Amino acid sequence: MPLVTLEGVGKSFGDNRVLSDVDLSVEAGEVVVVIGPSGSGKSTLCRCINRLETIDEGRILFEGNPLPAEGRELARMRSRVGMVFQSFNLFAHRTILDNVTLGPTKVLGQKRGQAEARARELLTRVGIADKADRLPRQLSGGQQQRAAIARALAMDPVLMLFDEPTSALDPEMISEVLDVMRSLAATGMTMIVVTHEMGFARSAADRVAFMADGRILEIAPPDDFFGAPKSDRARDFLARIL
Ligand code: ADP
Ligand code: MG
Repeated sequence: MPLVTLEGVGKSFGDNRVLSDVDLSVEAGEVVVVIGPSGSGKSTLCRCINRLETIDEGRILFEGNPLPAEGRELARMRSRVGMVFQSFNLFAHRTILDNVTLGPTKVLGQKRGQAEARARELLTRVGIADKADRLPRQLSGGQQQRAAIARALAMDPVLMLFDEPTSALDPEMISEVLDVMRSLAATGMTMIVVTHEMGFARSAADRVAFMADGRILEIAPPDDFFGAPKSDRARDFLARIL
């Protein structure tokens, strides 16, 4: 059973049709990298998967079940999906350690000590154990994004959604974040990653999905996709960014 399945998903904002006929199945342990021009619906796709947006057509299954509409079930489902955005969204007035322990203590009801031990383990894993007592603004962008990844992992997600996690970073910090994502992929985490980093797509993706105008025009293993994109839109897109 796939972890996530989208079937005929459609979504409009007013009369702007943002997603059309989107079919996508992501298996447990798979890394799907989503690429495509700005405005093609990549962020909306991510937001629909954890129901930050509702869909107008089709259905989305998570672990075989339709996404819960609301309440406790929705909260439970969301807590199993980690999301990392372009803007790190850390709590500015809390230490890095607090940022990572807040979800586990407030949402999962973990004891402070347990949450802290796990948080320190995760901060070590993303390479910023020494920043635990700092405030977000005392960290570089790359460090803040790694803290955001640790915060998401602290909820023990089964799926991680990354929406352009390196787009706001200075170039020299991009690789440290991509390296953390690569090592996460190597642990078997299921990941959907929207990015313009084609090197990451080539090396870390099991499949690359190319979106344009709200549709997935192509989806294929990176060697196939980059070696021989089938659509004119994909060829044009790659010619412009590579
Ligand atoms: P991408 O992430 O590929 O750049 P988005 O999913 O952000 O694309 O946006 C796709 C389209 O949906 C764009 O035309 C955008 O303006 C529109 N859109 C996204 N979010 C909203 C919203 N909350 N309200 C209205 N329009 C939106
Ligand atoms: Mg976007």
